[in-house]
Amino acid sequence: MEVPKGYQCKACGRVFHPKRRFCLGCGGDQFKELALEKEGTLLTFTKLHALTMDFTTRTLMLGIVEYPRGVRALGQLSTDKVEMGMKMRHRWEKVREINGQEIYGLKFYPASK
Ligand SMILES: [Zn+2]
Repeated sequence: MEVPKGYQCKACGRVFHPKRRFCLGCGGDQFKELALEKEGTLLTFTKLHALTMDFTTRTLMLGIVEYPRGVRALGQLSTDKVEMGMKMRHRWEKVREINGQEIYGLKFYPASK
């Protein structure tokens, strides 16, 4: 199983996810891989109602979680019972299937559960 990673700029220390070609802070192009922290804070979220035909659900929750080192990552939320500021934990799991191909991505679960 792939583990989601952060990518730290070797020049200025900013951490990104997903990986970028150039650092947004200083333009550097050398990165060091770091494990993302286990928990982050839910910054914002939205509920999508108009999904394409190939989704097996009628709605989809998406959220942006900020990790302690400043990484902000977009992912699906496991529940619509969320509020801004709550602690979330990620799993790397199947988030979609397109033409029989499994697509993996970040999925966030409330940390207290
Ligand atoms: Zn940098």
